[in-house]
Amino acid sequence: MTRFCTHCGQAVPDNCSFCTNCGAPLAAGSQPQYQVNINSQPNPQPQYAGPKPNNYMVWSILATLFCCIPLGVWCIVCSSKVNKAWQMGNFYQAKSESDKAKKWIIITAIVGLVANVAAFFSSGALQQYM
Ligand SMILES: [Zn+2]
Repeated sequence: MTRFCTHCGQAVPDNCSFCTNCGAPLAAGSQPQYQVNINSQPNPQPQYAGPKPNNYMVWSILATLFCCIPLGVWCIVCSSKVNKAWQMGNFYQAKSESDKAKKWIIITAIVGLVANVAAFFSSGALQQYM
């Protein structure tokens, strides 16, 4: 069986581990290989190609009503940007606004919870039950 150098294409005896023509090392049982550049396609910007991201608008409104109005309004602003960016074709921006809205809803919920618990203790309501 005759092999061919992957570097220069020269026929090389099977028992040689280096090309007799150019001296390139030969992989065992290798056939001529051609380099394929898989990174040839330019991809400057990440593109979001999934379904429309959740805008969490319901959660933003609930957060505004039950937790913290200023933070909740900011959540609604983020939520409304999701649909706006999606309609304009800015899919990646819509996804990032969706993530931002989710993050702020969680923050608003935590702030609202802490505020309610603090108000509960500071009002002395607990002492009525003790
Ligand atoms: Zn060679």
